Amino acid sequence: MIVGIDLGTTNSLVAVWRDGKAHIIPNALGQALTPSCVGIMDDGSISVGAAARERLQTHPLQTAALFKRYMGTNRSTQLGKQVFRAEELSSFVLRALKADAEAYLGEPVTEAIITVPAYFSDAQRKATRIAGELAGLKVERLLNEPTAAALAYGLQTKDESKFLVFDLGGGTFDISILELFEGVMEVRASAGDNSLGGEDFADLLRKNFLEKNGLHKTELPPEFNQRLRAVAERAKCALSDAPEAKMQLQADGGTHEWTLTQEEFHKLAEPLLERLRQPIERALRDARIMPAELDAVVLAGGATRMPMLRRMVSRMFGRFPVVDLNPDEVVAMGAAVQAGLKMRDAALDEVVMTDVSPYTMGMEVSRQLSPKQHAGGYYSPIIERNSVVPVSRVSRVVTVADNQKELALRVFQGESAMVADNVFLGELHIPVPPRPAGEVALDIRFTYDVNGLLEAEVLVLETGATHTLVIQENPGVMSEQDIRERLAFLQTIKIHPRDQAQNRTTMARAERVYQQLLGADRDYVGDAIAAFRGALESQEPERIRNVRKEVSRLLDQVEGVSLFE
Ligand code: AMP
Repeated sequence: MIVGIDLGTTNSLVAVWRDGKAHIIPNALGQALTPSCVGIMDDGSISVGAAARERLQTHPLQTAALFKRYMGTNRSTQLGKQVFRAEELSSFVLRALKADAEAYLGEPVTEAIITVPAYFSDAQRKATRIAGELAGLKVERLLNEPTAAALAYGLQTKDESKFLVFDLGGGTFDISILELFEGVMEVRASAGDNSLGGEDFADLLRKNFLEKNGLHKTELPPEFNQRLRAVAERAKCALSDAPEAKMQLQADGGTHEWTLTQEEFHKLAEPLLERLRQPIERALRDARIMPAELDAVVLAGGATRMPMLRRMVSRMFGRFPVVDLNPDEVVAMGAAVQAGLKMRDAALDEVVMTDVSPYTMGMEVSRQLSPKQHAGGYYSPIIERNSVVPVSRVSRVVTVADNQKELALRVFQGESAMVADNVFLGELHIPVPPRPAGEVALDIRFTYDVNGLLEAEVLVLETGATHTLVIQENPGVMSEQDIRERLAFLQTIKIHPRDQAQNRTTMARAERVYQQLLGADRDYVGDAIAAFRGALESQEPERIRNVRKEVSRLLDQVEGVSLFE
């Protein structure tokens, strides 16, 4: 069985194509969204999802979130005594989703379509594949998130149309312009920003809260920061539904608070909105489409619930965005549609997808500065951004020095004129027959496949010799050997079983709330924790269930009153 997975910065979802439809699979708590949070417990086991998210505040040094931002880099995160790379943390989330899907479907799940931001680089895509591998999943295909959203949308609107997908998730922004024509969906252009998302809007509130309360120059404990982050996040979401929100945080020295309106939030966020505008304009230019030609603007990603975004989109395109699809679920639904396509479901026969490369890929060349002088370091694009994939392009080069014995092919990705400003992907040294400058010609062919993997092939015309470079090893990507070693290690780590998810989440929440409260409320929660511990130790399912319900009710009550009013 192939499932579709939206591996998000903030939340992840798994969905399946069944009986001619995409279905979201609920997790052990019965929820569609599994927070992309991972925590390590005292016994060395791993907790994923809501329970881990609760522990972000109480155990910040044992818990990780937002690690999708570090995919494709060498940055690692320390959890307790262990150190993990982003793809390893992601693999824990994938393992939890796999277990949820297996419990729901009643059969093993070994393959997945995983979505990635269209703007993800080669290294980030490889890291995502590796995360799948580490989770015991064969990654059938990586699917661009907006393409997935469009796939879910395009199936519902059978018309021929041009539309734009505006996807603002927790940590990434993607924009894609697509065209649906005679059953073929073509991505005409995509652009985005890998480090801009809903979290940045919450962070803005956090920073301003500190400033308003005169705390911005104070060194604050990590627990305080985590709690403030949660309060800012809740205020941000509250401002999507209410004209104003109050942020309130109790700390040792008393209560800090700040009330702000939607308009004030909008004003503060202007620089972020400006950053969103640039990729939109670029995508429109690349697709050679005027905003008025678009038939629809589709929103995806939870952060598009912010009214200021809806207003900005309406103003830019002169129309209201389509909101009939759940922005949290649409990407996972599209991944399930793609999984259905892979499994050749008859209902999906007519749908064909095309996609584009998000970046330009090219090589370093020397340019002539004067008749006798050449300088290296210049960029020569071979596959231009937004080329329809799979794509193969050839560029011919000649030697620049007399009796040159070798040509170094250095491959880069990016848009800048100088290679130093682009991302280095790989290098190949090709022996060439010694001849006067300009007499040896080589054809450099770049092939880029639907998964975003690049291959460079070089043909020396005079000798017919060919050389191939598969871009595999780049900085920030684990080697085959690393993967094998870490796979063996990760298999020794236990993930908390699904059937304990509710107990674990409730206990983690109770511990978090206990830390936040003061006085009598705190005592109530302390008593509730003790009663819940006692019930868990009794191992009597009925008693555990009842006490858990009681504890949850108490927590709902105190959280409603003390944190936010
Ligand atoms: P995603 O990666 O698509 O799950 O999007 C998650 C992002 O959406 C997070 O930054 C959330 O804070 C944000 N989000 C979810 N619901 C809302 C809401 N009602 N208002 C504002 N932002 C939201």
